[in-house]
Amino acid sequence: MSTPRAERQSAVPGGVTRRRLTPALRLALAGLLAAASPVAAIPAAQDAPAPVPASEVPAPVPAGDPFEGPYQPTDDLERGLWHQMAEAERSLRTSKQVIRDPELNTYLRDVLCRTVGPECANIRLYVLRSPYFNATMAPNGVMTVWSGLLLRAQNEAQLAAVLGHEFAHFKRRHSLQLFRQAKEKSNAAAFLSFTLVGSLVSLALVESIFAFSREMEEEADRDGLKLVADAGYDPAQVPLIWEQLLDERDATLVARGRDKDKRKGKAGLFATHPPSQARVDYLRAAIAQLAAAPDAEIGDTRYRTRLAAWWPQFLDDQLKLNDDGGSLFLIESIDKANGWTPWSGFARAEFHRRRGAPGDAEAAVGFYTDTIARGGDLPELWRGRGYALRKAGRAEEARADFREYLGRVPDAPDRAMVSTLAGVE
Ligand SMILES: [Zn+2]
Repeated sequence: MSTPRAERQSAVPGGVTRRRLTPALRLALAGLLAAASPVAAIPAAQDAPAPVPASEVPAPVPAGDPFEGPYQPTDDLERGLWHQMAEAERSLRTSKQVIRDPELNTYLRDVLCRTVGPECANIRLYVLRSPYFNATMAPNGVMTVWSGLLLRAQNEAQLAAVLGHEFAHFKRRHSLQLFRQAKEKSNAAAFLSFTLVGSLVSLALVESIFAFSREMEEEADRDGLKLVADAGYDPAQVPLIWEQLLDERDATLVARGRDKDKRKGKAGLFATHPPSQARVDYLRAAIAQLAAAPDAEIGDTRYRTRLAAWWPQFLDDQLKLNDDGGSLFLIESIDKANGWTPWSGFARAEFHRRRGAPGDAEAAVGFYTDTIARGGDLPELWRGRGYALRKAGRAEEARADFREYLGRVPDAPDRAMVSTLAGVE
C-alpha cells in the first residue's frame, strides 16, 4: 500500500483556483473566499496535483452490458449549466484539496461501482480533504466525497450507503431541479459557484442553496438503501451512520453546555445532509420490509485497511476543529463499532495530546505506549509520544522517540523539524 506520507505536513494551504471562471462566477467566488473557512487551514492534499484526464478514470463497465448513457442537457439553460460545470470541474481537478492517491480513489470507485452497477461510468468521483461529513452530487455526474465522511463511516457498507444515496440524487436529477429553482430566483451564479468549487469554501452557502428538500432526501435514502441491499451489503448499516451523526452532534452540544438543544441542534458540520431522527426511523421501517440476506457483508476490516494510510491525517484534521465533545464521541464510536484497534488507540492518544488539559500529556503517553505494546506500528505513534513526553517534561525519552520516528520514516517530510527536536543534525 502506498502511503501519502510525502504529502504530509505541507505548508501550502488548501486553495481553490479561480482561473477560467466566468466573471459572474468569479464575483460569486470572491465573496465566498472572503468568508473565513476552517477548510483553508488544512494542508494541501497533494503538493503537485496532476489533472486526471477523463479518459483515465476507471470505467469498469463490462463490454456489452446495457446501461443508460449520461443525461444530456436538453435546452439552452441546461447547456449553459453544463458548460459552466465543465469549467468548474477543471478547477476542481487542479485543486490542492483533492486527494489523488490512486489506491484510495480506486477503492472508492470500486465500492461505488459495486453499489450502483455499470452506471458508475457516468460518475466522476473526487475525494476532498475536509473534516466535515459531506458529499455532493452535481447534475453532470461530478460527485464529491469529503474526508470527514470517510473518517466517520465505520465500514464499507456505510460508505456504500452514502455513495448510493448520492447516486440516487444524480439518477433522479435532483440537483438539476434545484438549479432550475435557483435560476427562477436569479440565484444561478451563486448556485453554479457552489456546486463544485464553492462547496469547498462556504458551508453556510452550501447549506442555504444546495440543500436538497426533505422529499428529495427521503427519495435518495430509499433508493440508496435498495442499492446497498442489492449490492450484498448489510442494509442495517445504513441508518447507523445517521444515528451516529445525531449522537455526535449531541455530544458536541453537551460539551458546549447546550444539553437542551440535543436532537434539534443546527446541522453544523453536516451541512447538506442533516441527520434527523425521522431519517433513521423511516430507514429502519424500510429495512424491516427487505428480505433478509444471511450473507450480507459489512466489510469493516477491509474498509479500515484501505483507509489506513490516510487515517492519521483525517484524524488530525478533525482534532484541529477543537470540537472536543464531538471528537471524543467519534473515537469512542470507532471503538464501539470495531473493538479496540491500533487506529483507535492512536486516535485516543492524539486526542489527549492535542487537547492539552491538565494530565493530558501523561494520559497521551499512556495511550501511545499501550498501543505500541499491543502491536501498533504507525510511525506517528513514536512522533506523537515524543511530543507528549516533551510536554510532560520528559525530554530525554522524547528525544529517543523522535529518533525512533526518523528511523522508521527516513524520508519524513518533517524530518528537519523532528531532527532538531531529536537533537540530531
Ligand atoms: Zn442527500
